[in-house]
Amino acid sequence: MKPAMSVIAAFLATATPAQGEDDPLLRPIAPDHAQEWLTPQQPVQIFGNTYLVGFGGLNIALIRTSDGLILLDGGLPQGVRQIEANIRSLGFEPGEVKLILSTEPHYDHAGGLAALARDTGARVIASAEAAEVLRRGKSGPDDPQMAWLPPFPAVEHVRAARDGEQLQVGDVTVTALATPGHTPGSMSWTWRSCESDHCADIVFASSLTPLAAGDYRFSAPANRSAAARFRETFQRLRSQPCDILLTTHPGASDGEAKLAKLLQDREPNPFIDPQACAAYADTYQQAFAKRLAEEAGTDLPRP
Ligand SMILES: [Zn+2]
Repeated sequence: MKPAMSVIAAFLATATPAQGEDDPLLRPIAPDHAQEWLTPQQPVQIFGNTYLVGFGGLNIALIRTSDGLILLDGGLPQGVRQIEANIRSLGFEPGEVKLILSTEPHYDHAGGLAALARDTGARVIASAEAAEVLRRGKSGPDDPQMAWLPPFPAVEHVRAARDGEQLQVGDVTVTALATPGHTPGSMSWTWRSCESDHCADIVFASSLTPLAAGDYRFSAPANRSAAARFRETFQRLRSQPCDILLTTHPGASDGEAKLAKLLQDREPNPFIDPQACAAYADTYQQAFAKRLAEEAGTDLPRP
């Protein structure tokens, strides 16, 4: 345990803000709870133009294009300096980031967006529903988890992307894939990446966990259309071209094991798995069915 801890401490030291710095956009949110998402992880090239620059419990992806970088998600405010350090350690500059795409307007994925947008000058893009939340820094009652969500730094300028919209930066086109359910505005993003003559469709998928707080019920009549959209999300992910799945929390798609293998040997690339999106959809569709069964039973107080 001890050697591992000192490695982590040394790694974290690179991300510690300058003494006395109190940057309101970097103030930690739920620091004790969030620590599990911030396990230091070496930045790594996953496939072709696609890298991970996040943490052991939280994926932040980076795409290299012929005209700058695209960042996917912002993590927690207290993780921003580490993300920027990770971008630099791959030989890039945060200022090269042109777009920041957001999967989900919760503090663990979006808490760092305001600081990253400021530091890089990049434009933040999210679904229309998520863009509203990002501008406020606070979820509304249509978010199943609203009752327990802490607010996060509001993002001043956010552009809304519609489902299916294609965003072009240099030689890379990223397509917006609406995957509502975990939040009404959840959006996944997909692009194609090549390594010599081998190309792969990559999906950076939003969380699908059917979590609810307070008296939110997916089965309540008022939430019928939200539940229907959640079911469509599973179907969409199943039919999506998907050679490589990266999930916002790596544990949701066996990401830690894949990464450990990749660091040992890139051939065959352990992230290439054309069944991964379908398996991800299946797992969380089952979780959603279980949640609905619990709501129908006596395990939960009736709304
Ligand atoms: Zn969430």
